[in-house]
Amino acid sequence: METYDGAPEPGGVPALSDAPISEADEAAAPVPDAEEAAVVVEQPVKLLPVAELHLHIEGTLEPELIFALAERNGIELPYADLDELRACYEFTDLQSFLDLYYANMAVLQTEQDFADMTRAYLERAAAAGVRHAEIMVDPQAHVSRGVPLETCVNGVASVLANSLAEFGVSTLLIAAFLRDLSEESALDVLEQLLAMNAPIAGIGLDSAEVGNPPAKFERLFARAKEAGLHRIAHAGEEGPPSYIIDALELLDVERIDHGIRCMEDPELVEHLVAERVPLTVCPLSNVRLRAVDTLAEHPLPAMLAAGLNVSVNSDDPAYFGGYVDDNFVQLQTVLGLSEFDRVRLASNSIRSSFADDERKTELLAELGYS
Ligand SMILES: [Zn+2]
Repeated sequence: METYDGAPEPGGVPALSDAPISEADEAAAPVPDAEEAAVVVEQPVKLLPVAELHLHIEGTLEPELIFALAERNGIELPYADLDELRACYEFTDLQSFLDLYYANMAVLQTEQDFADMTRAYLERAAAAGVRHAEIMVDPQAHVSRGVPLETCVNGVASVLANSLAEFGVSTLLIAAFLRDLSEESALDVLEQLLAMNAPIAGIGLDSAEVGNPPAKFERLFARAKEAGLHRIAHAGEEGPPSYIIDALELLDVERIDHGIRCMEDPELVEHLVAERVPLTVCPLSNVRLRAVDTLAEHPLPAMLAAGLNVSVNSDDPAYFGGYVDDNFVQLQTVLGLSEFDRVRLASNSIRSSFADDERKTELLAELGYS
C-alpha cells in the first residue's frame, strides 16, 4: 500500500509534480534550465491523501467552462471574453461573490452540463491529492431558474457513481439549502429529493449567513435527521460565534463549515475541542471574501494550537484562487505550516468524513497510520 513519504522542504514550496503548477509555485520558483526541469519531473513529491469536506460543485465552474457551456447552450454572457469575466473576481464580501456565483450558473442547463462540471472537478481534485470528496450541490439555485431537480441531481450523481473507478476519489453528495430563502422552500425541495430517492448522504446550509441564523431551519434539519441524513451547516464565517452554537444545539449538525469565528469565544472553543467537532476551514476563500485580511493573519495556526479538529478545503475553488493543493502550498509558504500539521490536517479530514470505516482505514493507512 502506498504510504506518504514526501520530505518537507524547509522554508520552501513543495514540488507538486502530480498536480498542475500553481501561480504561487511559478512565482516562487527560480527559472530552471532544461536539465533541472527534467530532474523535477523525475522526482515527484507525493501529495498527502486528503478528504475534501467543504466543496460547492457550482463553485468549481472555471471561466473557460463557463464560456464553453454558454456557447453550447446558446447563452449570451455579459462578458466579452475570459479577461473581462476574470476581472469580476475581486470580491469585497460574501454577497459580492454570491452575486457572480449565481449569475454564472445560468450556463448550467442540461444533465450533460452538470456532468461535465463534476468531471472537471474530480479530475483536478484527484491531481490535488483528494481521495474522498463530499460534494455540495445547491438544488434551489437551479430549480428557481427553471432547471428541473432531476437534471441537476442526475447530472452530478451520474459522474459521482463512477468517480472511485475513474478518478480514485470516493464521493458522497450533499444537498445544500440556501439560507437566504425560506424554510418552506427548503422543506419542499428536500421532500422532492426524498421522493425521487436522490442519492444524497446529507444536507447542508449555505449562502448569505448574516441575518439568516440556524434557528430559521430547525424543522428542515429535524426532517433530515428523521430521514437518516447527515447534517452540516456553514456557521461562523461572517456570522457570529453564536451561530456555531445554534447550529450544534438547534440543528444537531455533525460538522461546521468554516467556523473560524469560534476563536472569539474561548468557552465555545473549549466545547468544540472536547467534542472533537469538525470545522471545515477554507483559507483561500476566507482571504478572497475578506473574512480575514491576509493569509498571514489567518486563524488556522491558532486553531491547530488550540486543539480544534480542523481540515483544509477549497470551498469554491474556481472563484477563490485554488484547489486543496493550492491551499496547502499557500499555507506552507505564508504560514510555514509544518509537515506535522499537514499530516494532522489530512488525518482530521479523513476521520471527519462520512466515509465508511473501511474507506477511512484505507486512506489513513495511505497517510501512514495503521
Ligand atoms: Zn462554503
